[in-house]
Amino acid sequence: MFFDTIKSFFVNDIGIDLGTMNTLVYVKDRGIVLDEPSVVAINADTNKVRAVGTEAKGMIGLTPENIRVIRPMKDGVIADAEVTDEMLRIFIRKATGRLKVMRPRVLIAVPSGITEVGIRAVRESAFSAGARSVQLVEEPLAAAVGVGLPVNEPDANMIIDIGGGTTEVAIISLGNIVTSGSVQCAGDAMDVAIVNHMQNAHHLLIGDPTAEKIKISIGSAYEMSEPMTMEVKGHDMAQHGNRLPRAVTITSEEIRHALEKPVTTIIQVIRKTIDSCLPELAARLIDNGITMAGGGSMLRGLDKLISEETGLAVTIGKDPLKAVVNGTGLMLEHANKLFSQPANSMIGRGTRV
Ligand code: ADP
Ligand code: MG
Repeated sequence: MFFDTIKSFFVNDIGIDLGTMNTLVYVKDRGIVLDEPSVVAINADTNKVRAVGTEAKGMIGLTPENIRVIRPMKDGVIADAEVTDEMLRIFIRKATGRLKVMRPRVLIAVPSGITEVGIRAVRESAFSAGARSVQLVEEPLAAAVGVGLPVNEPDANMIIDIGGGTTEVAIISLGNIVTSGSVQCAGDAMDVAIVNHMQNAHHLLIGDPTAEKIKISIGSAYEMSEPMTMEVKGHDMAQHGNRLPRAVTITSEEIRHALEKPVTTIIQVIRKTIDSCLPELAARLIDNGITMAGGGSMLRGLDKLISEETGLAVTIGKDPLKAVVNGTGLMLEHANKLFSQPANSMIGRGTRV
């Protein structure tokens, strides 16, 4: 008790996974203290933030017209800098508010597709939220550290992080990303494919949250030995102007077909990344295989399909939704070294950790 209190005065390093779907915050010596959707609800009349995180996500599809619900990180490139700023500020406050921390040093994992403008926006948000020092890290590197890959070895460590907005693929050696690929196709694109399928095949209008439920309940990338069914409720589109609620029963087989397109896009970026990697590293992949992280990696049978398509062993890393933030937490063990890197550097891009 006493030591906990003392410690809290010295806890001043935090790690953040600024995901397209979820934001997680790790406080050194404490672990994950915040895990909420990257969602902001804004009052369109006043332009003021009404709610962030879990509270804001609960408003999706249920809001009056004057409230807009935004996912500012949606495409992995900071679609809305101002809203990201506000969200990050509120999350940092929330995560550190009750701890008596000094102005924290903040390590933030960002998608590798982030633009220079995006990088500046994230840095400035963290500073305006009270950070005294800010360092950015390539998200796939943080994910690889988080699942326990020996990233500092002169070896091929391959990680695939399938989130909401983006899939990031990276081959890491000696602490740096050597070859990488990314595509704006991940969990969200799977949900959209399911919404479209329900319209085309069943004339049923469903929202994204329902599509996500279908994906998680019966979605798959590989033929299942025991197919499943599910009842889905939505709006009937068949009759013009008369959208009555209706229920249909769907099968896991049809959802697997509906998901073929986004799944193929993900496989393509994986193959492309392997193809463009140095031959020595490619050879090492045969022994090391591929590790996956991110919520999308949990799609049934995706590991099996990727393994078949690449000829490499595929494992889903421990705690895939928390891999990135856990990685930032582990990296904070070397905080002094991290925060002494040049202010404009990005850990993982030419910097050894
Ligand atoms: P981000 O890093 O972009 O915030 P996450 O790694 O948190 O994203 O993953 C969120 C995505 O993972 C969402 O699209 C969600 O629907 C999907 N997801 C979560 N659990 C599962 C599951 N069991 N099967 C398939 N997809 C899942
Ligand atoms: Mg992520």
